[in-house]
Amino acid sequence: MSYPKIVAIDGPAASGKTTIANQLAERWKYLFFDTGVMYRAVTWLALEKQIPIKDEPAVSALAEKIQIDIEPSSKDDGREYDVLVDGVDVTWHLRSPKVDAKVSKVSAYPAVRKALTKQQRRIGLRGKVIMVGRDIGTVVLPEADLKIFLDADVDERARRRFNQRVDRGERVEFSKILKKLKKRDKIDSTREIAPLCAASDAVVINTDTLSVIDVLSEIEKYAQESIKD
Ligand code: C5P
Repeated sequence: MSYPKIVAIDGPAASGKTTIANQLAERWKYLFFDTGVMYRAVTWLALEKQIPIKDEPAVSALAEKIQIDIEPSSKDDGREYDVLVDGVDVTWHLRSPKVDAKVSKVSAYPAVRKALTKQQRRIGLRGKVIMVGRDIGTVVLPEADLKIFLDADVDERARRRFNQRVDRGERVEFSKILKKLKKRDKIDSTREIAPLCAASDAVVINTDTLSVIDVLSEIEKYAQESIKD
């Protein structure tokens, strides 16, 4: 069976991108690359080094020299991969509320986007990749053979995020998660450079009422169609 060489999956936070892309990559023996991790890594490192997030030149300088490695999962603690920043395993630190709260500000900085987009493109152009983010189909890999935009109602997305956190043993409040998701969506979709939006040639799938299996079969269908074109 052959598949499209480069697949871009974009969509808002908690729309199911990671779960879907991960499973698809496993089926097809493709590389799953989650670009959100890179923006989170820069944000985490800035917080760790106590660099004020509003100091755009300093945060941008970090993005230009940060060493981010994504490796196969080394622990059975619910992670899908390990993320190393300058050699240190920061996989779960990247999911902290502090990083969640600041990442959209960091990712709106043009120089941060320029540095990370360059690395993402280099990896994506090698092919056999499913790259996930907000601007993959529009900016990072506009030549992708298949572009999917996953969407879902914000309440449904907040519910999914809430359940994930509860499953990890965290004490969380639904209303706070909802509020923060809305805030992140707003910054991501209204920023000047590479805002969150579906590419004009993307297939938009609303996952509100679809199971993971349903979404995977939809994508498999579009994947076969994209090869015939
Ligand atoms: O996908 P995830 O929620 O981990 O992404 C974290 C943040 O990184 C997003 O809210 C967005 O601000 C930023 N991001 C981006 N462009 C991408 C991927 C993520 O701006 N391609």
